[in-house]
Amino acid sequence: MSHLDRRSLLKYATAASALAATGAIPDIVTRAFADEAPARKPLPWRNWSGNQSSNPVARLTPTSEDELVTILKSAQAPIRAVGAGHSFSPLVPTDGTLLTLDRMAGVSNVDKATRQADVAAGTRLARMSEDLAADGLSIDNLPDINKQSLAGALATATHGAGAKLGAMPTFVKELRLITPSGDIIDCDAGNNAEIFQAARVSLGSLGIVTRARMQARDLFKLKRRTWMQPVNEMIEQLPELAKTHRNFEFYYIPFSGMALGITNDETDEPVTPAPPNADDDGVLQLKMLQDWLGWSPSLRRWAIQKAMADFPVEERVDYAHKTLSTERGVRFNEMEYHLPRAEAPEALRQIIKTIEDNNIKVFFPIEVRTIAADDIWLSPFYQRDTISIAVHQFHEWDYHDYFAQIEPIHWAHQGRPHWGKLNTLKGADFARLYPKWDAFQKIRAGLDPAGKFLTPQMKRMMGVA
Ligand SMILES: Cc1cc2nc3c(=O)[nH]c(=O)nc-3n(C[C@H](O)[C@H](O)[C@H](O)COP(=O)(O)OP(=O)(O)OC[C@H]3O[C@@H](n4cnc5c(N)ncnc54)[C@H](O)[C@@H]3O)c2cc1C
Repeated sequence: MSHLDRRSLLKYATAASALAATGAIPDIVTRAFADEAPARKPLPWRNWSGNQSSNPVARLTPTSEDELVTILKSAQAPIRAVGAGHSFSPLVPTDGTLLTLDRMAGVSNVDKATRQADVAAGTRLARMSEDLAADGLSIDNLPDINKQSLAGALATATHGAGAKLGAMPTFVKELRLITPSGDIIDCDAGNNAEIFQAARVSLGSLGIVTRARMQARDLFKLKRRTWMQPVNEMIEQLPELAKTHRNFEFYYIPFSGMALGITNDETDEPVTPAPPNADDDGVLQLKMLQDWLGWSPSLRRWAIQKAMADFPVEERVDYAHKTLSTERGVRFNEMEYHLPRAEAPEALRQIIKTIEDNNIKVFFPIEVRTIAADDIWLSPFYQRDTISIAVHQFHEWDYHDYFAQIEPIHWAHQGRPHWGKLNTLKGADFARLYPKWDAFQKIRAGLDPAGKFLTPQMKRMMGVA
């Protein structure tokens, strides 16, 4: 249309609408306009770290359940939902239709007696926490960051730290799911109970979750304590630290022999001023040491230990949702496996030895957390008190060789991978790791008989031909 100026475009448009009003648009005109219409271009999508991407033919953002039902009935498959795009595994990429529930967000129907509230699926965890706090409520535990959508966090069994605290899906009392064919299903422990067991951790494969009724508790404060300690001592004290503190986690700094411990315990003490977040600076300093001294593990160890010699014990008091979740400014790719508690210490020692004996190029700390068992079919914590071990690689560096050297250690220790993080397992492997795998697949095939939610990557994961 470049040869048309604005005035002549207006002239022809006016003439065309006059003709349309008489029903007399000649076929040749409509065909000419159709030829001129821009072809529908795929809209590229990529995730937070940049390791997953796709070109969906449509990206749709419904504002209501009615609209969503209509979309599900007609949208081009494979259909996938995206939350905040913070998963590293290929759960979201599709060349078909990508749905986001960003416009279906917010907290409603707060019941202060039961301390329950409805949270719309697209609500980011940060907003959920702020809205609940305004009503004097808080979720009992939260992950490291609060950028995820609620539905995304549930779909992958996102978790925080705490030996007696479950992952995010354990706080769900009721769930609403819209099936791939557009049926609305409400489920809870007594109503559509099997669907409830499958849908709380579903990898987004059963349909679209539109809301969850979440169990909260009265708003509470935590005292957060951080300190540095030799990693061997930390591993030995792990069971005791996990038992005596509400939340306990630690980070091993590769090539240092040292670990940073973090505990959180409930307190009535007054809130202290929040210190500036130094995590990103610390990570970038570790990168600088890798860049300068990566060739010599012993020099690097010496430099890190010197730098950490006077690392102070720090304490901070704030409301739980403010101390539990932090910012992650330096991007990375991640693999996390969940292991039986008795297996984890030995697995961690082997991982550290593998990294340091092979001088693997990495500076991101290894994160170690405890999580309580639950009864949700595809939860990695299904009937298993867990310790999780997560390795990270800087997003600009290839992670494949590093993760390939670590993953077999998890396999040898009965690890189940985090659904949202990198791993190389497929359907048959998951069938061995999850006692309720077949029961889940039966529900999935019943809700999505045509496989509308199955991309090639999802088929591999689900073990579907
Ligand atoms: C910096 C960072 C920190 C992290 N920290 C933690 C942590 O502390 N603990 C932890 O366990 N994990 C952590 N993760 C992983 C993250 O919590 C999970 O991958 C989570 O699933 C991401 O949520 P999301 O909203 O981005 O979902 P996405 O990654 O966008 O989607 C995840 C899954 O949810 C599905 N989905 C999304 N919306 C819906 C819906 N409405 N209905 C049905 N299915 C839906 C998608 O199809 C997909 O299968 C972290 C990730 C990053 C990048």
